[in-house]
Amino acid sequence: MEALQPAGSFKLRGIGHLCQKRVAAGAKRLIASSGGNAGYAAAYAARRLGVGATVVVPESTSKLMREKIEAESAHVLVWGGCWDEADLRARELAAAPGCAYVPPFDHPDLWEGHASLVDELAAQHDPFGLVVLAVGGGGLLCGVLTGLHRVGWQHVPVLAVETEGTSSFDAACRAGRLVTLEAIQGVATSLGAKTVAAEAVAWNSRHEIHRHVVSDREAVGACQRFADDHRILVEPACGASLATVYGCLPELARRDSVLVVVCGGAGVNLQQFHKWLSILQR
Ligand SMILES: *Cc1c(COP(=O)(O)O)cnc(C)c1O
Repeated sequence: MEALQPAGSFKLRGIGHLCQKRVAAGAKRLIASSGGNAGYAAAYAARRLGVGATVVVPESTSKLMREKIEAESAHVLVWGGCWDEADLRARELAAAPGCAYVPPFDHPDLWEGHASLVDELAAQHDPFGLVVLAVGGGGLLCGVLTGLHRVGWQHVPVLAVETEGTSSFDAACRAGRLVTLEAIQGVATSLGAKTVAAEAVAWNSRHEIHRHVVSDREAVGACQRFADDHRILVEPACGASLATVYGCLPELARRDSVLVVVCGGAGVNLQQFHKWLSILQR
């Protein structure tokens, strides 16, 4: 239930770990690039670590997320039309003395931090028959795989879920090389990395990874069912993985036990949720 973590998603696991290391190494300001949740986690980490933060977000990042990041005392810089452009700017800014760059998904320190999720699972449960998770840039995937191998659960298969408009991992696995999508489409913006981390694709040779792609309608429908069942709102990025459960995917039905990473997302409130519903009902 990563939706209940500080900053509303699993992101703080990896981002927090990376930020702690950078501050221990002397960084006085953290410069993150993000579509939303990674920057929010970086802002939270910076505040708790007592250093400054600049979060570079693209124009597509919602006002809701910008305000949440600012409420963590971070400076929000809006730059470019997509995350890739914001990321270039963040890397430039981070070259200044005393600054450190905080990437959103493609770094071993992030995977190391995300892997703590699996340490906690292993301490509480026998190995699951399947782990279901959403893939954006592949940071969560790399982290969970790192964790599975660390705790001796390397035989537990993983189901990587994306939405149709964000399926850069599926595209890369099909092509056998990294693929850059022309654009990110749909409501699951937190999964919107045009190119996944190379490491995510490389894991295919070391682990049994299945893939599934859902529609926006399925993702948002799953958020609605999840809100009804558990009274917790999550982003469509998270709804994507929940949709495999509510859609009774055969891949899940044949397993004894299934773990779904409820990755959460802070970019949702009732008003935003109703907007997504109305877009999809048109
Ligand atoms: C970041 C994020 C993802 C995707 O994680 P990656 O590490 O980019 O694959 C999925 N869901 C939510 C809510 C996120 O914030």
